[in-house]
Amino acid sequence: MSMKSKAWLVGGGIGSLAAAAFMIRDGGLPGANISILEAAPVMGGSLDGAGDPAAGYSMRGGRMLTTDNYECTWDLFKSVPSLNNAGKSVFDETVEFNERHRSDAMARLVDRRRAKVPVASMGFSMQDRAELLKLSQTDEDTLAASRITDCLSPSFFETEFWYMWSTTFAFEPWHSAVEFRRYMHRFLLEFSRLDTLAGVKRTIYNQYDSLVLPLQSWLAAQGVRLVADCKVTDFDHKVEDCTFIVTGIQCRRQGKREVIALNDGDLVFLQNASMTDASSLGSMTHPPPKLTKADSGGWTLWEKLADAWALFGNPAVFNSCIAQSCWESFTVTLKNPAFFDQMIQFSGNQPGTGGLVTFKDSNWLMSIVLAFQPHFPNQPEGVQVFWGYSLFPDRVGNFVPKPMDECNGAEILQELCGHLRFDPETVASAYCIPCRMPYITSMFMPRTRGDRPLPVPAGSKNLAFVSQFVEIPDDVVFTVEYSVRAAQMAVYQLLGINRKIPPVTPWDKSFRVQLDALIKEFK
Ligand SMILES: Cc1cc2nc3c(=O)[nH]c(=O)nc-3n(C[C@H](O)[C@H](O)[C@H](O)COP(=O)(O)OP(=O)(O)OC[C@H]3O[C@@H](n4cnc5c(N)ncnc54)[C@H](O)[C@@H]3O)c2cc1C
Repeated sequence: MSMKSKAWLVGGGIGSLAAAAFMIRDGGLPGANISILEAAPVMGGSLDGAGDPAAGYSMRGGRMLTTDNYECTWDLFKSVPSLNNAGKSVFDETVEFNERHRSDAMARLVDRRRAKVPVASMGFSMQDRAELLKLSQTDEDTLAASRITDCLSPSFFETEFWYMWSTTFAFEPWHSAVEFRRYMHRFLLEFSRLDTLAGVKRTIYNQYDSLVLPLQSWLAAQGVRLVADCKVTDFDHKVEDCTFIVTGIQCRRQGKREVIALNDGDLVFLQNASMTDASSLGSMTHPPPKLTKADSGGWTLWEKLADAWALFGNPAVFNSCIAQSCWESFTVTLKNPAFFDQMIQFSGNQPGTGGLVTFKDSNWLMSIVLAFQPHFPNQPEGVQVFWGYSLFPDRVGNFVPKPMDECNGAEILQELCGHLRFDPETVASAYCIPCRMPYITSMFMPRTRGDRPLPVPAGSKNLAFVSQFVEIPDDVVFTVEYSVRAAQMAVYQLLGINRKIPPVTPWDKSFRVQLDALIKEFK
């Protein structure tokens, strides 16, 4: 690749931002040669977070990270300067923050009696153990498109382990057995600390302010063009000598149609689909509107490409059943300390030291988490923000006679107070913003080999894929790490960079770790 080559990144999520950074840091490409085209008004994609005390804060997700995994993420953020601590990297400041605020959750599961469920034992029967072991040892081609329920008996889904594991990682029983197996291997260390979430690391603020903004600022300082409100609608391409070559990018920029002609040597990195595609926000008085991919057009580009080249994957596997891939989150802004005070008393955890508190018998399977405060840099003293989500929003609630996806913010607070037996006065000043995400677990849909393209598919000359919907051996989706790893792989391959990509740490191959996990599990 010549230093005159230009790189075009379609989508402004962490995957693209990371790809731009790797091209500059490891490939030596000048920042001015790189453009990121993002359909939304801001960069960051799923890692969003915004608001103020008057309108309420909102973020679609709250993230748990680890420093035992996330090898590529930290490789990147060791090079990204902190915005708040001069001379330190984002990695340094995050590690220091987590040393000061260690996770030691004391209320992971709460039952219908409002009692904290003892979770040190995972609740497995001998049959559950045998089935789990068998699943973990079965290879991916044998499991193929099977679902978790195809491999594990009904009793497994009533264990404390399943309630904690499924809500920590957002698995539902009908999801891919292959992905569930990968998680068991990748996060083996978490088996023995799932009850306290002691391995979890968090960012100082929400992930938009703590990860996206510092990275975006660094990229802007290198001269990268960050183009918002620019939706790519199609690629012009040609096929020559059995290779697929993108020759132009068609887009709508601030409503106006544009075609970007590519030169020989130019590169394109596509974020093929997004877990937060077609997501929508509600308010205290309105539920979020029910959107689909037809409203957003977010999957269209990948669908067109998959029709054009056999090795570009099969998006229909992931986006054809909203009933199996949808759930809802909510962000609550409080101007009265009563809710936090009562949660601290109930859980025994100060904000930022607990984990997900899951109401295991709730019809919606609702969880909340109280992060360290402030969670937003502009959050004034006296204002508190927390986040929660429910895995089954299509079910009628226990305290609100409606499915969650028909509820406004006030009704979601009513359901939450019902499970906690908190007086409604506790949330009288609260503002709750619900968020519906129809494709949030689309990456977990059962799949077989070839349904996801490789970061650089065979036969592709200048097009790479950087997303949650690419095939990376051993790594797991629904993580920031997966997108960053995809970015690093795609960039290194297309730019021919001869630097080692940090491998997936083989915790599952470590005898000591396996032994500790087994001892804990059999206790
Ligand atoms: C609720 C929730 C909880 C999560 N919890 C965790 C967690 O605990 N730990 C963890 O590690 N990860 C977690 N994740 C996952 C993590 O946030 C994502 O994996 C990651 O942010 C995905 O990044 P991405 O860049 O691949 O895609 P995205 O962030 O989805 O970005 C894709 C971008 O591409 C844009 N785009 C799409 N099509 C076009 C087009 N045609 N033209 C222009 N732009 C386009 C979209 O607008 C979007 O901005 C969570 C995510 C959510 C939503």
